Amino acid sequence: MKSKYEVVIGLEVHAQLSTESKIFCGCSTKFGSAPNSNVCPICLGHPGVLPVLNKKVVEYAVLMGLATNCEIKERSIFARKNYFYPDSPKGWQTSQFDEPICENGYLDIVTSDGTERRLDITRIHMEEDAGKSIHDKGDETLVDLNRTGVPLIEIVSEPVMRSAEEAYLYLIKIKHILTYLDICDGNMEEGSLRCDANISIRLKGETELGTKTEVKNMNSFRNVEKAINVEIERQIEIIEEGERIIQQTLLWDADLEDVFPMRSKEESHDYRYFPEPDLMPVIVDEEWKNKISQKLPELPEARMERFITEFKLPEYDAGILTSSRPLADYYENILTVTDDYKSASNWVMGNVLKIIKEEKIDISEFPIYPENLGKLINLINDKTISGKIAKDVFPEMLKSNDDPAKIVKEKNLVQITDTSALEGIVDTIISNNQPQVEQYLQGKETVIGFFVGQVMRESKGKANPQVVNEILRSKLNTLK
Ligand SMILES: [Zn+2]
Repeated sequence: MKSKYEVVIGLEVHAQLSTESKIFCGCSTKFGSAPNSNVCPICLGHPGVLPVLNKKVVEYAVLMGLATNCEIKERSIFARKNYFYPDSPKGWQTSQFDEPICENGYLDIVTSDGTERRLDITRIHMEEDAGKSIHDKGDETLVDLNRTGVPLIEIVSEPVMRSAEEAYLYLIKIKHILTYLDICDGNMEEGSLRCDANISIRLKGETELGTKTEVKNMNSFRNVEKAINVEIERQIEIIEEGERIIQQTLLWDADLEDVFPMRSKEESHDYRYFPEPDLMPVIVDEEWKNKISQKLPELPEARMERFITEFKLPEYDAGILTSSRPLADYYENILTVTDDYKSASNWVMGNVLKIIKEEKIDISEFPIYPENLGKLINLINDKTISGKIAKDVFPEMLKSNDDPAKIVKEKNLVQITDTSALEGIVDTIISNNQPQVEQYLQGKETVIGFFVGQVMRESKGKANPQVVNEILRSKLNTLK
């Protein structure tokens, strides 16, 4: 039944730009300041004040436009989007409407079944954020205007996505690009990246769009995927019952995993846009555009390709390592010390990411310098320590961030590869474990693992397992 429908999804993504000051005044954008402390007459919308556009905001919007294959418009203008809400004291939001700064871009994604899709971006425009209404402090509603005037870009896609998975992949890619450009921290949980989805369904083959609904309030990447799937199911059910879809705004409830209509009085569609008379048109000429484009870093897609070709990493590894610029930088910094690309990848994807997840920290806060991790890998590779010992050195490095060679020396963890030192231990183990010797002599080869284990224990993990293996075999074979 479901397969006769085609799903149509368009996303509107708001990204909070990480500039120091607000879009039209010098107030700080710092998060977590005391309520209503980062404000001035301009962002409070006092009568007669004049906004001044923050140049960085234009640069960031152009960077995002270039990174998403958009046309950068030489001339764009700001407009007033008029509406009343207590957290927007001016009575309008300064945004861009019919002449945005970027148009006609696209992003490429690959879905889990290997389908390559090019998803068109309609536009990217600059605007200011509204303040924040706080409803959960007693009976009153409080208003914090620190966020009023914080710069945003809105990235609007064409209605081209055909599944929740495509929407999810598109959104993840937007996040990766924003964080690579270092213009937004990409944190959905904290609201610096917000996503609204326009969703409709139609019979396959139909060219006209069905009635759409807008789903808001999805505060994580996984919630976006879930909410879209729930809404698709809801729409199919309605159509199958012979009813009609009502065009409305729905809010996602992450706890109930369902969508609910927004109270209708909170909806307002007639914004009476008109050009902002207090701001000049924004002119981005060729010279400025070229200057900005020189700041474009290597983007995630290109970097992933390079990791695959240059470091011979599996696509899976390359995808994870390039998922954020600081993580990719961390990995490449390990390679300044070691050329064991795959081991470096394993350490990052295993131990490093595990700690980061457990401690809920960022890679920039991870205590071990990448160079020290590289040194640890070299100590294993030159057989100074075993892989097993390395797992004991790692937590020490987490505590002190010391050079691993120093830790190995201080803790006397150097691997015993000296045959004569190991032979003594092997002899003791053999003479103390006669039943197992019998088993070995009767052809049970796997018992060798038992002996290696015993020797490793006896040597407190410092014996080189390969050398132990060789000595054991030669000694046991002489008993045959
Ligand atoms: Zn201000």
